Amino acid sequence: MLGEDESAVGGCLCGDIRYTVTGPTLFVSQCCCKDCQKATGTGHTTIFGLRSHQLQMQGTPKTYTNAGESGGSVTRHFCGTCGGRLYTTGDLPGDTIVIMQAGSLDDPNLVSPESVIYTKDAVAWDVFDPALPRFEARQPRKL
Ligand SMILES: [Zn+2]
Ligand SMILES: [Zn+2]
Repeated sequence: MLGEDESAVGGCLCGDIRYTVTGPTLFVSQCCCKDCQKATGTGHTTIFGLRSHQLQMQGTPKTYTNAGESGGSVTRHFCGTCGGRLYTTGDLPGDTIVIMQAGSLDDPNLVSPESVIYTKDAVAWDVFDPALPRFEARQPRKL
């Protein structure tokens, strides 16, 4: 978790796009949903939530928008050169939330997952910390 006055930097693989985030993080989760699997080519993706004003971008990501599970739109922001995923906006509780890809931080150890979400889509070979609370779909939270 990033605290109130903490900040961190990150960016894509090629370095064309860089960003700075400031705390506090709203949540950190492992997301097993089908769309995260397709978008990343992995079993799950590690994400953390912020208010949009807590993200400062340097560079302009490409975007891809599709319908989320609840029918609203979800927009994924990624580098047009290297494909590195950066963050997601859209069909999320509170429209000012951005969902960051934790692996795009220069030091991903600055955050640590607090829950596993969309376990209904989890693949059999993916392994999670058994101490983390699990949710079949979206984690109910107050944002
Ligand atoms: Zn890039
Ligand atoms: Zn997901």
